[in-house]
Amino acid sequence: MYAATDQAVPPPVRRTESLTMETRESILAKLRFAARTWDVLVIGGGATGLGAAVEAASRGYRTLLVERLDFAKGTSSRSTKLVHGGVRYLEQMNVRLVLDALLERGRMLRNAPHLCHDLRFIVPAYSLTSLPYYGFGLKMYDWLSGKLSLGPSELLSAAATRQKLPGVVAKGLRGGILYHDGQFDDARYAITLLRTLQDLGGVAVNYVEATGFIEEEKQLVGIQAIDREGGEVFRLRAKAILNASGVFAEDTLRMQGTEEHALLSVSQGTHMVLPASYLPGGHALMVPKTADGRVLFAIPWHGRTLVGTTDVQAECPTVEPRAMKEEKIFLLDHIERYLGRRPAPEEILSIWSGLRPLVRQGGQSTSKLSRDHTILVAPSGLITVTGGKWTTYRRMGQDTIDRAMQVAGLPTTESCTATMPLHGAAATATEPASEWERVYGSDLAALHALGADRPELDALLHPRLPFRMLEVVWAVRFELARTTEDVLARRTRALFLDARAAMEAAPAVAQLLAQELGRSKEEADRDLESFLALAKTYIYEQD
Ligand SMILES: Cc1cc2nc3c(=O)[nH]c(=O)nc-3n(C[C@H](O)[C@H](O)[C@H](O)COP(=O)(O)OP(=O)(O)OC[C@H]3O[C@@H](n4cnc5c(N)ncnc54)[C@H](O)[C@@H]3O)c2cc1C
Repeated sequence: MYAATDQAVPPPVRRTESLTMETRESILAKLRFAARTWDVLVIGGGATGLGAAVEAASRGYRTLLVERLDFAKGTSSRSTKLVHGGVRYLEQMNVRLVLDALLERGRMLRNAPHLCHDLRFIVPAYSLTSLPYYGFGLKMYDWLSGKLSLGPSELLSAAATRQKLPGVVAKGLRGGILYHDGQFDDARYAITLLRTLQDLGGVAVNYVEATGFIEEEKQLVGIQAIDREGGEVFRLRAKAILNASGVFAEDTLRMQGTEEHALLSVSQGTHMVLPASYLPGGHALMVPKTADGRVLFAIPWHGRTLVGTTDVQAECPTVEPRAMKEEKIFLLDHIERYLGRRPAPEEILSIWSGLRPLVRQGGQSTSKLSRDHTILVAPSGLITVTGGKWTTYRRMGQDTIDRAMQVAGLPTTESCTATMPLHGAAATATEPASEWERVYGSDLAALHALGADRPELDALLHPRLPFRMLEVVWAVRFELARTTEDVLARRTRALFLDARAAMEAAPAVAQLLAQELGRSKEEADRDLESFLALAKTYIYEQD
């Protein structure tokens, strides 16, 4: 498309919101075409990789992303779901990080209104000094948001705090501060980035793992990758290669055959999901400083209460981190302390953990390490982007592609993603039947149409979940879902919202998925077994 020497700005990309989706087979056929050289090849399909791929494709570069598991299978489906500047970074005096993130918060709310919304948070104050202290801090937060502010913060009396947060412990309550921040659905946002990438002509595939690099004259010119479903090996040539493999970034760096210094410090965060009754009133609770100096949230999420998170050093990255005993105790103690009751084990609907890729700085504890992002260029030309947070994914993508342009000699282009609506952002005439359905944005009418001549698809997956069987079909046909886990964990959020209900829903989902994918009963059974084994680990167990 563009020669490496051609410095002209490429023509703007024609973007069409496509309803016909490429099949896995047609995508793999593109990977087989060995003569092709991609402009930008991204390793890793989390927030960082998908954001960089959308940035590259929107600038007209031929873009390919490979993800070894499912999109957002890693950290990017396990966040606290906040689109935020980060009030606590203000206390650490990292004003630039807060400012950049607040700008990005405004852009996410504007460019993906179907996935992000304003949420009111309340900081309960149990001492008279904390009211002016946090009141001032949150005024500064408002002020830094400028025109992108979601609404002014307010000081509340103790009675008003109790009225807005009916569950909050009243003993010693002096008042509260109400402020605004953003909330989103992280895995759905990732899937929306996938769809946006496709609209822009980019290619992304899950269950394809980068296993090695192709080198010529000490420079990387491509990767070797394997289809984890069929075992086929691909040699993929590219001008710029991005390592966006999250907490596994060091493993990807090591694939160059070089000795790497420790780049990342990995910190684990755990969340518990409780019934909505823990947080009636629709407001979120924010505890700015727990006994050990952390920040804790309890937020309403898809009809449940999400509580988190912890911040504990993790020894080595794993795909499915498990909650540690100390994290469970920390969360239970704080739920009791602020929401007045200690959840019984059966009230904990789901428990899950994620790993933060934090860039090392001396011997600091992980809670003090910066959430800023880092871009490193290896002598081989490999570009690693890591750190940051979901809220800053777009800016990370912009900075990375700017860097890739220089490193790989790509034609000069400018970013246009700050104002680019994502897939589904257009207004829709179809009224969502539930709060959940909003995530489909302008695709909602097409989703409903799937059930027009198959009324059985309108059935709920489970009486306690808002998801319908048609979403399984949709996920397979339009969102590259390949397993029951993909559907129940990241296309819908069943596993994260209620692990027991997800397990009960799984047999019917596995059967429908197998029908859609033309798989045998044996294959469907294996898929179901593997989901059930995983889902068990999302059920709370007392240590
Ligand atoms: C507990 C917790 C709470 C958080 N809460 C928030 C929040 O509320 N708001 C916010 O803004 N941010 C939050 N964050 C931060 C945010 O979630 C992360 O910064 C972000 O998700 C990191 O995305 P990533 O793409 O870098 O990593 P990941 O999402 O982990 O993606 C990396 C991907 O690379 C893939 N991969 C690895 N190796 C290969 C290979 N060889 N070939 C192909 N693919 C490969 C992995 O499978 C993985 O999918 C939170 C983080 C944690 C842990």
